[in-house]
Amino acid sequence: MIKHHPSDELLLAHAGGELPASMTIAVAAHCEMCETCAEKVAQYEITLSDSAFDETLNVETSESDSAVFATMMQRSPVETSRQ
Ligand SMILES: [Zn+2]
Repeated sequence: MIKHHPSDELLLAHAGGELPASMTIAVAAHCEMCETCAEKVAQYEITLSDSAFDETLNVETSESDSAVFATMMQRSPVETSRQ
């Protein structure tokens, strides 16, 4: 039976891809044998991908970016009509 589990911090870092290769291999090997830790890593991966998605949305919908994009869209027809 497995008696030693990686810490939650280690599992979280593994889920975020922040561990060095040697540690990643060790944690991944443990998760293949340990359903408890595999489920924790799966949960952390969902949490991390959700927060990354939120950040992307905030960047895409920021008002300053939209204004810059709108300005670019308005300018280009004027420049092309000169030619
Ligand atoms: Zn475990």
